[in-house]
Amino acid sequence: MDSDFYSDEIMETHDPRGFTLREAIHEAKRCLNCAKPLCRTGCPIENEIPEFIKELANGNIGEASAVIARRSNLPAVCGRVCPHEKQCEGACILNRKGEGIKIGKLERFIADVDADFELTPPPKPVDTKGKVAIIGSGPAGLTVAGDLAKKGYKITVFDAQEEPGGVLMYGIPEFRLAKEVVRREIKRIRRLGVEFINNIMVGQDLTLQDIFAQNFDAIFIATGNSVAKSLDIDGKNLVGVLEATYLLQMVSLATQGSVDQSEVPIKSGDDVVIIGAGNVAMDAGRSAIREGAASVTVVCREAEDKVAALESEVEAAKAEGVKFRSLRQPTKFLGSIKVRGLQCEILHFDENAKLTGTGVHDFIKADKIVIAIGQRPAARIISTTKGIEVDEGGFVKTRSRPYGMTTLHGVFSGGDVVHGPATVVRAMKDAKKVAMGIAQYVEAKKLMQECGLKIEKDR
Ligand SMILES: Cc1cc2nc3c(=O)[nH]c(=O)nc-3n(C[C@H](O)[C@H](O)[C@H](O)COP(=O)(O)OP(=O)(O)OC[C@H]3O[C@@H](n4cnc5c(N)ncnc54)[C@H](O)[C@@H]3O)c2cc1C
Ligand code: SF4
Repeated sequence: MDSDFYSDEIMETHDPRGFTLREAIHEAKRCLNCAKPLCRTGCPIENEIPEFIKELANGNIGEASAVIARRSNLPAVCGRVCPHEKQCEGACILNRKGEGIKIGKLERFIADVDADFELTPPPKPVDTKGKVAIIGSGPAGLTVAGDLAKKGYKITVFDAQEEPGGVLMYGIPEFRLAKEVVRREIKRIRRLGVEFINNIMVGQDLTLQDIFAQNFDAIFIATGNSVAKSLDIDGKNLVGVLEATYLLQMVSLATQGSVDQSEVPIKSGDDVVIIGAGNVAMDAGRSAIREGAASVTVVCREAEDKVAALESEVEAAKAEGVKFRSLRQPTKFLGSIKVRGLQCEILHFDENAKLTGTGVHDFIKADKIVIAIGQRPAARIISTTKGIEVDEGGFVKTRSRPYGMTTLHGVFSGGDVVHGPATVVRAMKDAKKVAMGIAQYVEAKKLMQECGLKIEKDR
């Protein structure tokens, strides 16, 4: 299929956040199709970038999409939220001569056009290889589901939330990732024969033993990091001190109409302080602005040019009115019943370039203080299952052979619950390797069963 296939109207359709077809093909034609593509090395899941760009440059969007599908089940998501500037785009050779290829926008364009025109219908489901249960439907769970379904496994995904998607659905705000895009990706995974069962909290409504009793050959735990780290200082229980993940979840639920707008903890006219300066903090700050906050101030220990959030996210937050007070250590939430401000110690770099307190404090007025200093895993499944070891931070321990298996036979794990909070594509990368580990395990198990041997340890 070449570009003549598409009407002039489609060629010129302009999505303000993305490329038109004309722009996409023009951008794709700039690619040098390098023999040793640095872009591919820069991509954590080694997407076949030059190959899909070449197909696009020739107007073959269906082929381009099929190339992407060889490595990714979530191209429309990755095209929108991956930190491309630190990965594929940052590595592109053309950066040395001027402007690198906009790989993220191209991936997103291909995924969107494929979805709109159904250029590549998913393969017919085959589910003869074995039965695998997945707990958690974020990027890690969805990746294992998609990869194993394509290999011929029957997959059932359990999730505690009303809809699948994990952080994609209930964390990243709508203005950065439209929920319709997430639903569309999940629909494609569903069409591979994957079954989703929602509103089930494993460890509470169902145990791993109950799941194994349903004849699953293996279980994959991909429950992410749902417990927010707290700040143990005076006043931490005051009304108005809240967690960023809770705020973002309530904003998502209100946007989707699942809860009333009055449940969103930020109100119009609030002065808001955000503690922490990672990407979650930027999302919380930008969401607070959209909820009508009178002021939003990010408070962080780091110097402003050393914060954990992507530069593009910091710039976007600043452009929307978020202010920064860096080199500050929060020391006290002020107020009696309701919070009314945050006291901080001002930090500086001493003669050894070490960050230390100056003994001088300042005060920031606040009606709401949002804590965004990281997350860790919940212990719901671990505490109701014998034999799954975790490290001191609560992260699940896994082995390298078969890749991703926990200390409990037949139970695998991956994504943030194993490696800690990271990125969508990091969770996908890990999950892809675990999918292969699960396939090896189930295959070996079936073979042993066929030979009349038993490999199961007692659970
Ligand atoms: C606000 C926010 C913004 C982010 N922005 C970006 C970004 O722009 N780009 C980027 O690359 N990364 C971003 N990240 C990081 C990225 O989203 C995560 O690294 C990724 O989602 C981790 O995937 P996961 O599958 O391991 O877990 P999650 O996405 O956390 O999914 C875990 C799932 O498990 C379910 N679950 C948990 N416990 C149970 C249980 N007991 N029973 C049943 N189900 C359970 C949960 O309901 C959830 O659906 C962001 C993270 C946050 C919090
Ligand atoms: S490094 Fe840049 S120019 Fe080379 S193949 Fe990748 S995207 Fe194309």
